[in-house]
Amino acid sequence: MAYGFDTLQIHAGARPDPATGARQVPIYQTTAYVFRDAEHAAALFNLQEVGYIYSRLTNPTVAALQERVATLEGGVGAVCCSSGHAAQIMALFPLMGPGLNVVVSTRLYGGSITQFSQTIKRFGWSATFVDFDDLDAVAAAIDDNTRAVFCESIANPGGYVTDLDAVAKIADAAGLPLIVDNTSATPYLCRPIEHGATLVVHSMTKYLTGNGTVTGGVVVDSGNFDWSASDKFPSLSEPEPAYHGLKFHETFGPLAFTFHSIAIGLRDLGMTLNPQAAHYTLMGIETLSLRMERHVLNAEKVAGWLESHPTIEAVTYAGLASSPYHDRVARICPKGAGGLFTIALKGGYDACTRFVDSLELFSHVANLGDTRSLVIHSASTTHRQLSPEQQTAAGAAPNVVRISIGIEDAADIIADLDQALTKAHG
Ligand SMILES: *Cc1c(COP(=O)(O)O)cnc(C)c1O
Repeated sequence: MAYGFDTLQIHAGARPDPATGARQVPIYQTTAYVFRDAEHAAALFNLQEVGYIYSRLTNPTVAALQERVATLEGGVGAVCCSSGHAAQIMALFPLMGPGLNVVVSTRLYGGSITQFSQTIKRFGWSATFVDFDDLDAVAAAIDDNTRAVFCESIANPGGYVTDLDAVAKIADAAGLPLIVDNTSATPYLCRPIEHGATLVVHSMTKYLTGNGTVTGGVVVDSGNFDWSASDKFPSLSEPEPAYHGLKFHETFGPLAFTFHSIAIGLRDLGMTLNPQAAHYTLMGIETLSLRMERHVLNAEKVAGWLESHPTIEAVTYAGLASSPYHDRVARICPKGAGGLFTIALKGGYDACTRFVDSLELFSHVANLGDTRSLVIHSASTTHRQLSPEQQTAAGAAPNVVRISIGIEDAADIIADLDQALTKAHG
């Protein structure tokens, strides 16, 4: 039976525990699993039989979460990781190698810009940054050594919406997978696979868990990419020396990427999600649609109020009728533009820091997607490592504050912003 989203967010991946009948998914707090006999152990290690060996690779609590997120995103499989940043490395790992590059959007989470512009160089990988609203520039940035295209659906911090269908078409024409970071949208607001994404990554730290208790990530595999169509992805299409010459695509078909990520990615990189974190995230996802509806409703009210406030220069919320992304929202995120946006304050950097220090209900933290309303001055914190040009391109100029609207009473959120804006402009 084809259940709806609200049903799947509670039931997908979860069945009564076969040993005890426990209705909620138990936390399988175990490192290892007893083999039935030596033959069973050998079959598991040969990937001839699917089962549990060691919790760096697989764990029943984590497996339930993988199935739930894969189902909500419309993928065939998923691999959970220790953080969103771990998920990004895990997504690229089977595709990349020394001398190869990924084409990425300039509008990304600040930490992702640093990860891609600096840290991946240590692996011999590189990233080419382009404005994903300039489709010709995206196509032009792809060369013979490109192995993936990467963007966010609703882009951090400004809440801009990427034209996923158009970007997917460009990636497809070049024979490349499109990887979409769907953290800010969640599968409730946007389903990137339906717009042509090959892989979807999340920081589950944010809306999926939803209440600021967990650090976690996930890579969802659409199962739609033909890894053997070219010689660009030998780890998946050719005999893989890291797994005694197994040919992942030939052996596992649409699940090649998922199996590779577990059998080699988690085995050797060890960026594993722990079962306790998986349990919290499973519980968070049970209310995802309810929370996202309220995040959107509140964000629309607050952004509309801010837009007409005399101390505000600009509000980037794509859900506003005045946004250049307004039409795109209806196509890419039909249930709303999320709860994340930025405001530009008259009075620049100093007004921003006074504003942030004057807020009382809002928490000043380096996080987003919490039930609580959160604020951060990106230029002095998350985007501090970036050059002024990078800050502006990423939507984090010095006069800009990022706001993550919580699910409190909208009137209380607005009252807090009102008093802090008054103080900021003293
Ligand atoms: C937070 C975030 C990340 C990084 O996730 P962590 O769980 O903090 O490692 C990546 N992308 C986006 C859009 C994020 O908001």
